[in-house]
Order: sequence, then C-alpha cells, then structure tokens
Amino acid sequence: MNERSIDFLKQTFSRYYSSLKSLWVPEEIEKREFGFFLGKEKAMVRHRSFDSAEKLLGFLAKEAPFDVYYSIATYDSPQEAMSEKGWRGADVVFDIDADHLGRQCREEHDMWVCLACGKEGKGGKPASCPECEKKDFHEVNWVCGKCLEVAKLEVYKLLEVLEEDFGIGDENVEVYFSGHRGYHVHVQGRLSSIDQAARKELVDYLTGTGLDLGLVGLGAKSPGRLVTGWGTRIARSLYEIVNEKGIGEKHAGDKNLEAKRKRRILEGLMANDVEALSKNVSKKDFESLVSLAIEKVSVKVDPVVTTDVHRLFRLPETINSKTGLLKRRVPLESLSSFDPLEDAVVLKGDPVKVSVKRAPRFSLSGGTYGPYANESATVPREVAVLLLCKEAAEYSG
Ligand SMILES: [Zn+2]
Ligand SMILES: [Zn+2]
Repeated sequence: MNERSIDFLKQTFSRYYSSLKSLWVPEEIEKREFGFFLGKEKAMVRHRSFDSAEKLLGFLAKEAPFDVYYSIATYDSPQEAMSEKGWRGADVVFDIDADHLGRQCREEHDMWVCLACGKEGKGGKPASCPECEKKDFHEVNWVCGKCLEVAKLEVYKLLEVLEEDFGIGDENVEVYFSGHRGYHVHVQGRLSSIDQAARKELVDYLTGTGLDLGLVGLGAKSPGRLVTGWGTRIARSLYEIVNEKGIGEKHAGDKNLEAKRKRRILEGLMANDVEALSKNVSKKDFESLVSLAIEKVSVKVDPVVTTDVHRLFRLPETINSKTGLLKRRVPLESLSSFDPLEDAVVLKGDPVKVSVKRAPRFSLSGGTYGPYANESATVPREVAVLLLCKEAAEYSG
C-alpha cells in the first residue's frame, strides 16, 4: 500500500474516531493490556494500558490505529512485560470465521495467480501450481453475504449449546460481527477463572472432538436411546438427514419398501430410539449417517482463540483494517436480520477515485461493484476503503 493510500485511510479512520461521543470498553479497563497496529506493515504496539474510556478514545482519535486490540485477560500490571503482568483471569471468547467453514461461493469470489508462471484459477489457492508446481501465489480472497450467513449459522449453534448444556443464557453472552469474515461471541464474567486445560475441554465439547459415542447412547455394541445434550442433537440431526436425503442404501429399486423403512426410521428417531435406525440400515451406512450428523451439529469455533488465556482480541466498536468495517455488537434480537455488509459499514462518504488492481464483483451497503482488473474507478468512500484495506487498489484522489 502506498503512502497516499495509508494517509487516506488514516484520515478516514481518525475522522470516525473523532466523531464518537463514547466508546465500548471492557470491564476493569485499567487491568487490561491494549495493543495497536498503527500502520499497515508496522509491528504491533502493545503492553499499553488506559484507565478510562475517555483516554482510550482520545488515543484512537489522535493516532487512528489500523487495528485495536485488548486483552481478554485482566492483569495486576497490564503495562509490564508478559512474565511480570500478574494474570488474574480471562473472559471466555469464541471466534467463528467463515474461512474455516466450507463455502461454495469461494469459487465465485476468490482467485489465485501463480507468481512464477502467471497461471490463474478460481477459488482457494491449490497446494501447488498445476502448471509449474511452484507454491507462491497472489491470492484475491473476498467475503460475500453467503459466507457471512454460513458463519451466522454457527453462532446460532454455539448459543444453543451454551444455553442447553452449560446454562449460559442469552443474558450472559454478547455477539459481535468481527468486521471481517465472521463473528465473535463473548461470555460475560462467570467462566473467567477457568484455566487453559478447561478451555480446551470446552472447545473439544463444542467441536465434538473425541466424542465418546457410548456415552451419548451410540455405542458400537448397542445403540439405544440418545442421551445428554450431544445425544439429543445427534438424534435431531439424524432425523433431518434421513428426512431430507434418505438413508443412503439403494434398495433394489423398491420405492415402497424404501419409503416404509424410511418412515420406520423417522418414527424411531422421533421417539429417540436410535436402534430403529441401526436395525434398518447397514453398519456402514449407520456409521456414515452418524458421522455426518456429528459434523452437522458440531460448532466450528477456532480452538486456538478460546484456549489462549493471554489473547489480544479485537476491541468491539473499532474498525477492522482488513475491510474498513466495524467490529459491531449485534443484539440477539436483531441477529437474524443483521447484514454485516450493510450494518457494519460506518465509513461512508463522497465518491473518491481509486486505481484497482483486481477485485471480483461484490456488494457493499446496498450497491454492487466490479469486477475490476487494472482500472480506475470512482466509488463511494466506504467502497474505496474496502478496496484499499483488501490491498486490491490504491488511492488516486
Ligand atoms: Zn505456476
Ligand atoms: Zn462467499
């Protein structure tokens, strides 16, 4: 990114922070470590502390950082080096990123170019270039409304498990759009003393890692009634799969028999009797149905984020420099209608001119733009910001 582009972004960010009357800050702000990226390629400035929201806001308006982070942990002395800080506890947070979820739309908006031979292709980059076998690529990765819907579904799954299995209700969680490809879920207070090992257990539980099928009533020897939170979710998932997709096995074209078996299985699953399923399909089909059911109900949180008790996490209501969008709180009652590409756009303004290297067709704030390839374009400020942040364009006045 060239100097003029950086200046343009800094000015735009600074104007935004200067316009704010107040800022979200975590509880016990004086015990938190803060970190910032002050420029695009600069190292993170960290071990900073602030004792009030006003002081932090003043800093943001003056410096217009590209990214703002705070520690999920509280410390006795947050400004000291790591070993001297004195860890007191840490909020439990979850990160759901569309990048870790299978998305067919990647074929529509992502592309790669081999830096060695110039071969290009759609979707995510290959392990090595199909033409010259080299491994260095220029990637153009985008996020669309579909990617973000996929991420939102994971949020719903997470909220359900937290409530049903852990008793952590809506009043104890806050949901945020991350400002980029997904959502952050913050759990208030009550779990802050749990250590790294316990957080790992929590993540394993959510993701279904090492799930003991015997414990939920799906033991290899005698599948019976599905029990516990996981068991009932698997039963429900099995019901949906069988109902939508059928039971896998082809049954010699006998449609009647097939329909009868399907009904028997569905009735069984309704009554939470998984034996009805195991009796009516082959062992192989049974196993593949169960693993598909588990895959569907497991919650795809990033395990690294939740288990790191020293993590610096993006501060809510600040700008994400990967997109220029806001990490924005989403009240649960408006989660279903929340549209990040509309509702997290805060840097709006008059059209500006940019020279675009490459960008797919994309939507932002109600408009549709591109595709672009090595061309000039005059676009609304929020669109220019997005293109610059994604390093797909430079500012040209
Ligand atoms: Zn190549
Ligand atoms: Zn997409």
